[in-house]
Amino acid sequence: MKTIGILGGMSAASTQTYYHELCARTAERLGGLHSPELLIRSLDFAAIEALQAAGDWEAAGAILNREAQALERGGAELLILATNTMHKLAEPMMAGVSIPFLHIAEATARAILSRGLSRPGLIATAFTMEQDFYTGRLRAQGLRPIIPEAPDRALIHRVIYDELCKGRVQEQSRFAFEAIAARLAEAGADSLILGCTEVGMLLDQSNVGVPVFDTTLIHCEAALDLALG
Ligand code: GLU
Repeated sequence: MKTIGILGGMSAASTQTYYHELCARTAERLGGLHSPELLIRSLDFAAIEALQAAGDWEAAGAILNREAQALERGGAELLILATNTMHKLAEPMMAGVSIPFLHIAEATARAILSRGLSRPGLIATAFTMEQDFYTGRLRAQGLRPIIPEAPDRALIHRVIYDELCKGRVQEQSRFAFEAIAARLAEAGADSLILGCTEVGMLLDQSNVGVPVFDTTLIHCEAALDLALG
């Protein structure tokens, strides 16, 4: 079994889900007392969020790069970055790092295509929905993502940072996310990407009318495929 390096803490709420899922899925696959070989580096999200808000992506990229190198030195044999948004910095993060990197959008695109779907709605931070680093990756894989209208994007972004990243689940926000998912389906989405690693706290297959692709769960499954060979 290979050691998976997880660069997380963005936010801590979703890194807990990664740990839980990786443990549960390893036990399910291997049985007995098996658990995954992991190295988890959990950053202080307040510092990262301040850099995002200030648009200082260069400084954020330097932090991710330093930490990715440390994970490699520490013995990680493959790397996952436990946030969709920070994949904006996947390239600077991996500069000088030689272990494989499992890109969350590529793993998600493969999962969608394998189900014969092509037009996913995307619920994520404003950075992920509005900038090209993520939707461009999806398009490069052959998908045609649909993003919510501006007022819905603003609400999603606010709920992610003000509630979900603080570990808070509010029913009112769940209803709002359900309504946005329904609007995306009405606009032609044949599936829904939970494109932020915390959105699974509000949405899953039980309250969305189209097939749901939770990036956190897909990322964990794909990392285990690599780690377990
Ligand atoms: N975890 C979130 C994501 O998947 C948002 C937090 C962040 O900005 O990293 O995009």
